[in-house]
Amino acid sequence: MYIDQNEMTNWLTEMFTAAGCPKEEAILIATHLVDADASGHPSHGIVRVPRYMEYIKEGTVRPVCAHETLMSSGSLRLIDGLYSFGQVLGHHVVAQAKQMVAQDGLALIGLRNAGHLGRIGGWAELLAEAGLVSLHFVTVAGSRIVAPFGGREARISTAPIAIGIPQDDGNHFILDFATSRVAEGKILVSQKTGTKLPADAMVDKNGEDSDQPVTIYGPSATSSVPNPRGGEGAIQTFGQHKGSGLGLACELLAGALTGAGTNAHDRPFCNGMLSLVFKADDFDTENAMQQEVQDFIASIRDCPPRETGKAVLIPGDPERAKREEVSVKGVSLSEAIIDQLKTISDTLSVPQPDGLS
Ligand code: NAD
Repeated sequence: MYIDQNEMTNWLTEMFTAAGCPKEEAILIATHLVDADASGHPSHGIVRVPRYMEYIKEGTVRPVCAHETLMSSGSLRLIDGLYSFGQVLGHHVVAQAKQMVAQDGLALIGLRNAGHLGRIGGWAELLAEAGLVSLHFVTVAGSRIVAPFGGREARISTAPIAIGIPQDDGNHFILDFATSRVAEGKILVSQKTGTKLPADAMVDKNGEDSDQPVTIYGPSATSSVPNPRGGEGAIQTFGQHKGSGLGLACELLAGALTGAGTNAHDRPFCNGMLSLVFKADDFDTENAMQQEVQDFIASIRDCPPRETGKAVLIPGDPERAKREEVSVKGVSLSEAIIDQLKTISDTLSVPQPDGLS
């Protein structure tokens, strides 16, 4: 079923407002979630709403954003997100980074105790729109669901990274992925909609490859909010020892350094993020960088494809293409997810969009 993006955003905004979020924060949460679907990452979009509503009920996330600056010195800042919604805290980090770069040319921001920050590339996109380069290392404390290379038990999180490099034409380079073979949200989507996962997405307790969501969800797989620590298996990292090494680096940089904590210990669920942000122009002493970036990207796009008709892309292209498609067709949602949203909206006494009721 396809639903207009604005209609969906308004519906979710009303639901989050009814659940206790201030309207302007509910708009940020809803917009980020719907944009994740619109950019081809439903794993970090609307499918998360039931889990977010549970978080509010359980007190895992505070519905009204609060944060505290623990340290601020020149281009360094450490922020405690106090378990507020990540979609709101992400905007706070972006605003702080812009201000710090304007003042000092550089921002290194540590964020701890953030609610789920959603699609990390969304923060790199906002910074690239402002002409800023950014690198983000992220950990998910309290989410030990990925096995390190060579292991068959979960020890780390899906620990994503994102790198944004602005381009004058707006087609920014946005690299954004989990260091796990697949993001946990993709397994959630597979559990709910039956989409196929790679054969080596997970490793079971015997050390064998698995593509079955039950490997990480266990008996909770059929519940409306499956627990990714409910099973005995784990997600694998991507790229063998290389992706695993990056995942460990994220745990250390975004977990140990920011104070969000690593997955060595059981902790309440939160995201930690270490973001490095700067203005490319400051490095561009000969005014040659943009041209070099453009030439390089053109040389990549120009590479003869291995498969006829399949273009060679740069990171950021698939999301742009998907957004264009969704702006015409609307966001695609399975009936199972729509039914869950209807139940939540009925419970919160929020009217359903006309097309659904
Ligand atoms: P993915 O495997 O879909 O990879 C996406 C990246 O690869 C993007 O940068 C995309 O532009 C690029 N890409 C895709 N196809 C390409 C192609 N053919 N050519 C060139 N580049 C291509 O991403 P994922 O690992 O499934 O992660 C999905 C989302 O989950 C990300 O947005 C990530 O930030 C998010 N995530 C968030 C958390 C969290 O705790 N907040 C945890 C894990 C993942």
